[in-house]
Amino acid sequence: MDIETFNWLSAELLNSHQRFIPDPICETYDVKFGDFQTGVRCETCSRFGMIKLPRTWSCPFCNATDCLAHQRTLLEWFLIYKKDITNRECREFLGIEDIHTAKRILQGMNWQSQGTFRNRSYIMNFDNNHFAQSKGGIFIRQ
Ligand SMILES: [Zn+2]
Repeated sequence: MDIETFNWLSAELLNSHQRFIPDPICETYDVKFGDFQTGVRCETCSRFGMIKLPRTWSCPFCNATDCLAHQRTLLEWFLIYKKDITNRECREFLGIEDIHTAKRILQGMNWQSQGTFRNRSYIMNFDNNHFAQSKGGIFIRQ
């Protein structure tokens, strides 16, 4: 291959690259959302139920703290359940009660939103780097 063809091919490949984003598992397979464990999982001891504190999350079992724990958990929402999330769904999934805390978390992700007020939902942008530190991992309740 001559250098001109090589450069052309490189440019074509780069231009046509698209990141593969799988459909949520609940859409692809016949898995009910209730089969998944909700709550924020502690990366240190792997248990669910991290508690939201100002600016961080704390594990009631091993006392580990993780200020990014919600990002990992929200990524799992999009991979498991559906492509958008409302404030109420966010509270249920993360196990937090305060509507304003959930709003701050969702707005802090810098995702696109659609709808207004009670109907507002947020759509994940898989291209941002919020999940660079995520180790992944999706857990099914035993
Ligand atoms: Zn823990």
